[in-house]
Amino acid sequence: MPNNENHRTNRIGRHLPTSGGLKNTLQKAAEQECETIQIFVSNPQQWADPNPRPDAEAFINGKDELGVYPLVAHAKYLINLASKDEGQRGKSTNALARELVAAGELGVDLVVVHSGSHGGEGEEKGMEHLVEGLDRARELAAKFAGGSRTAEPLVENSCGAGTQLCSDLDTLASVLRRADVRCCFDTCHAFVAGHDLSSPEAAKETGAEIREKLDGGIGLFHLNDARNSFGSRRDGHARIGEGEVPEESWTAFFGELPNIPVAMETPYATPEVDADQIRKVKELVGGLRLRAGGL
Ligand SMILES: [Zn+2]
Ligand SMILES: [Zn+2]
Repeated sequence: MPNNENHRTNRIGRHLPTSGGLKNTLQKAAEQECETIQIFVSNPQQWADPNPRPDAEAFINGKDELGVYPLVAHAKYLINLASKDEGQRGKSTNALARELVAAGELGVDLVVVHSGSHGGEGEEKGMEHLVEGLDRARELAAKFAGGSRTAEPLVENSCGAGTQLCSDLDTLASVLRRADVRCCFDTCHAFVAGHDLSSPEAAKETGAEIREKLDGGIGLFHLNDARNSFGSRRDGHARIGEGEVPEESWTAFFGELPNIPVAMETPYATPEVDADQIRKVKELVGGLRLRAGGL
């Protein structure tokens, strides 16, 4: 249902570094007034399994005190569940399972994973592998966790570069249905893949179409402005208001998509600029005040 309330219903936050320790991550979240945050639970560029963190308990208590939720992790960029190579698929499935477990141990709710590339084997074959990989990763994670809590995987839409899957709503909706998962919808990827956000009118229409086709299947938005042009199929995140999408488009877009958390993955700047971006997005998406109970 479109959001006509005065108060905002989308929780707003961003990806934050963990390099200075998780305590530092939470401090940044507090300074920037993030209502949700995304982190990495392992090195995203390497296959090494996530390491247990000595500061896990302090992190879990700290995020509860701050009232930050949902907590999100972005899975390794190397993971390609749709790969035509069986060895790569096995490695990817195992890595995702390990991340779901490590995320669960940190009190993280959601793990975003790229939908992957079929590598020339064809879209249908790639989708079969992706659906199988998601099923298998959840099974494995449950086994590794031995009854402890694991995080929920979210499949992310792509830019449609090369043989990437899920750059269009129909393919994405089909994966969500077949694998019984929800998605993370990235606005930069969508824009460069040909979903028009170039004016408030276009953004409202795009938002309504997303709501209809993915109905209830969106667990998170990645809110990123696009450095590259509409339909270019080239990724490149820009800060809000600094790329190809006019700021007013976000108001129209999220007006159609209330109650879904939003995390930015835009380039870091100074603490002032970072805080300003969060404030700006809150204002664009319905106001600084979050409606009580708003998700
Ligand atoms: Zn993203
Ligand atoms: Zn991206």
